[in-house]
Amino acid sequence: MKHGTSDRKIGPLTAEEYIEKGKSFHGSMAPGLLIGGFMVDYARKNLPGGEFFDVISETGHCLPDAVQLLTPCTIGNGWLKIIDTGRFAITFYDKSTGDGVRVYLDPKKLESWEEINSWFFRLKPKKEQDSEKLVAEIIDAGPEILSHEPVKVRSDFPARPHKEHIVLCSSCGEAYPEGHGEKCMGCSGLLPFI
Ligand code: ZN
Repeated sequence: MKHGTSDRKIGPLTAEEYIEKGKSFHGSMAPGLLIGGFMVDYARKNLPGGEFFDVISETGHCLPDAVQLLTPCTIGNGWLKIIDTGRFAITFYDKSTGDGVRVYLDPKKLESWEEINSWFFRLKPKKEQDSEKLVAEIIDAGPEILSHEPVKVRSDFPARPHKEHIVLCSSCGEAYPEGHGEKCMGCSGLLPFI
């Protein structure tokens, strides 16, 4: 696929290189993952000082994978947290000061980007989407559809989990945190197993 603006960069990567990485990491180049790449890049460029940061993603869809692809912050190491407000936004912040920047896909800037607009607002069924045009538009738009605002993250975030005693479940015999109750949550019906 040939894009009009193949010089568009996402961090050190060209858009094409990012798309290739995204396909192998995420399974496909979802539109949200591509926009997420520009959001991560934009957040890093607007970070208020310092090179160390933690990240909050406001959705569990696509954006966490853009962060994990492009930064050392992952769900597993705890530097990336998901707080699901359902908004398409990420916040990068310095944990020692709380100073950060929140980057979001700005609906007001979508007017001139027809394909992105109809994808974002789910205006047509997926099979009617022109996915080539959508990808080309996202690359053309780059950071132009994004806005940012300064934020200050509360110093008590994230709340430190206190380390509970570990006991063995009387039902399954596996270890679990004592505070969960008489049985482990697996045996209490939390899992969708039949
Ligand atoms: Zn159990």
